[in-house]
Amino acid sequence: MSECPRCHQPIDVQAIACPHCRLPLKAFGHPGIPLHRAAGEDYLCATCLYHVDDTCNFPQRPYAKECTLYVNSSQQNSTTLYKPRRTYLAKNWLSRNAVWLILGALLLVSILVALMP
Ligand code: SF4
Ligand SMILES: [Zn+2]
Repeated sequence: MSECPRCHQPIDVQAIACPHCRLPLKAFGHPGIPLHRAAGEDYLCATCLYHVDDTCNFPQRPYAKECTLYVNSSQQNSTTLYKPRRTYLAKNWLSRNAVWLILGALLLVSILVALMP
Protein backbone atom coordinates (compact mmCIF):
# COMPACT_ATOMS: atom_id res chain seq x y z
CA MET A 1 0.00 0.00 0.00
CA SER A 2 1.11 3.53 -0.80
CA GLU A 3 -0.10 6.86 0.54
CA CYS A 4 -1.81 9.75 -1.26
CA PRO A 5 0.48 12.81 -1.23
CA ARG A 6 -2.49 15.15 -0.71
CA CYS A 7 -4.90 13.45 1.71
CA HIS A 8 -2.46 10.83 3.10
CA GLN A 9 -5.04 8.04 2.86
CA PRO A 10 -3.76 4.57 1.95
CA ILE A 11 -4.00 3.91 -1.81
CA ASP A 12 -3.16 1.08 -4.16
CA VAL A 13 0.24 1.56 -5.89
CA GLN A 14 -1.49 0.91 -9.24
CA ALA A 15 -4.18 3.58 -8.66
CA ILE A 16 -4.41 6.21 -11.41
CA ALA A 17 -6.10 8.69 -9.07
CA CYS A 18 -6.68 8.79 -5.33
CA PRO A 19 -10.07 7.17 -4.55
CA HIS A 20 -10.53 9.55 -1.59
CA CYS A 21 -9.65 13.03 -2.94
CA ARG A 22 -9.42 12.26 -6.73
CA LEU A 23 -5.83 13.56 -7.01
CA PRO A 24 -4.26 12.25 -10.26
CA LEU A 25 -1.34 9.95 -9.45
CA LYS A 26 -0.33 8.80 -12.93
CA ALA A 27 0.38 10.69 -16.13
CA PHE A 28 -2.74 11.54 -18.14
CA GLY A 29 -3.05 9.17 -21.08
CA HIS A 30 -0.18 7.02 -19.74
CA PRO A 31 -1.56 5.35 -16.61
CA GLY A 32 1.50 3.10 -16.26
CA ILE A 33 3.78 6.07 -15.73
CA PRO A 34 4.01 7.62 -12.26
CA LEU A 35 3.45 11.35 -12.07
CA HIS A 36 5.97 13.12 -9.85
CA ARG A 37 4.57 16.13 -8.05
CA ALA A 38 6.31 19.06 -6.35
CA ALA A 39 5.76 19.42 -2.61
CA GLY A 40 4.76 22.91 -1.49
CA GLU A 41 6.01 25.94 -3.39
CA ASP A 42 9.18 24.33 -4.79
CA TYR A 43 9.59 23.34 -8.43
CA LEU A 44 10.51 19.76 -9.30
CA CYS A 45 13.25 20.93 -11.68
CA ALA A 46 15.24 22.45 -8.82
CA THR A 47 16.19 18.94 -7.64
CA CYS A 48 15.92 17.07 -10.95
CA LEU A 49 18.96 15.34 -12.39
CA TYR A 50 18.03 16.39 -15.95
CA HIS A 51 18.01 20.04 -14.91
CA VAL A 52 21.37 19.67 -13.15
CA ASP A 53 23.04 18.04 -16.19
CA ASP A 54 21.20 20.39 -18.59
CA THR A 55 19.72 17.63 -20.78
CA CYS A 56 16.02 18.36 -20.24
CA ASN A 57 14.28 20.14 -23.12
CA PHE A 58 10.74 19.98 -21.73
CA PRO A 59 8.99 23.35 -22.21
CA GLN A 60 7.84 23.39 -18.57
CA ARG A 61 11.44 23.40 -17.34
CA PRO A 62 12.51 24.98 -14.95
CA TYR A 63 9.01 25.57 -13.50
CA ALA A 64 7.58 22.03 -13.57
CA LYS A 65 5.25 21.23 -10.68
CA GLU A 66 4.36 17.82 -12.18
CA CYS A 67 6.56 15.67 -14.38
CA THR A 68 6.80 12.03 -15.45
CA LEU A 69 10.56 12.10 -16.13
CA TYR A 70 11.69 13.58 -12.82
CA VAL A 71 14.74 11.92 -11.24
CA ASN A 72 15.95 13.16 -7.88
CA SER A 73 19.54 14.20 -8.44
CA SER A 74 20.58 13.53 -4.84
CA GLN A 75 19.18 9.98 -4.66
CA GLN A 76 20.51 8.48 -7.88
CA ASN A 77 23.62 6.39 -8.33
CA SER A 78 25.20 8.13 -11.31
CA THR A 79 26.69 4.87 -12.68
CA THR A 80 23.24 3.39 -13.35
CA LEU A 81 21.91 6.40 -15.20
CA TYR A 82 21.99 7.34 -18.83
CA LYS A 83 24.82 9.78 -19.41
CA PRO A 84 24.57 11.88 -22.56
CA ARG A 85 27.62 12.15 -24.78
CA ARG A 86 29.50 15.42 -25.08
CA THR A 87 28.54 15.63 -28.75
CA TYR A 88 24.86 15.35 -27.82
CA LEU A 89 25.26 18.07 -25.19
CA ALA A 90 27.10 20.27 -27.70
CA LYS A 91 24.38 19.74 -30.34
CA ASN A 92 21.71 20.47 -27.76
CA TRP A 93 23.47 23.69 -26.72
CA LEU A 94 24.01 24.74 -30.36
CA SER A 95 20.36 24.17 -31.28
CA ARG A 96 19.17 26.21 -28.29
CA ASN A 97 21.56 29.08 -29.00
CA ALA A 98 21.50 29.02 -32.83
CA VAL A 99 19.70 32.38 -33.07
CA TRP A 100 22.31 34.15 -30.92
CA LEU A 101 25.18 32.54 -32.80
CA ILE A 102 23.75 33.67 -36.17
CA LEU A 103 23.14 37.19 -34.83
CA GLY A 104 26.69 37.31 -33.45
CA ALA A 105 28.11 36.17 -36.79
CA LEU A 106 26.06 38.80 -38.67
CA LEU A 107 27.24 41.49 -36.24
CA LEU A 108 30.86 40.41 -36.68
CA VAL A 109 30.54 40.48 -40.49
CA SER A 110 28.90 43.92 -40.44
CA ILE A 111 31.68 45.28 -38.16
CA LEU A 112 34.32 43.85 -40.50
CA VAL A 113 32.57 45.37 -43.54
CA ALA A 114 32.32 48.75 -41.79
CA LEU A 115 36.03 48.71 -40.92
CA MET A 116 37.11 47.94 -44.50
CA PRO A 117 38.84 50.85 -46.22
S1 SF4 B 1 12.54 16.21 -16.50
FE1 SF4 B 1 10.76 17.33 -15.61
S2 SF4 B 1 11.37 17.85 -13.51
FE2 SF4 B 1 13.24 17.27 -14.64
S3 SF4 B 1 14.08 19.23 -15.39
FE3 SF4 B 1 12.77 18.39 -17.01
S4 SF4 B 1 10.74 19.33 -16.66
FE4 SF4 B 1 11.93 19.60 -14.78
ZN1 LIG C 1 -6.02 11.57 -1.76
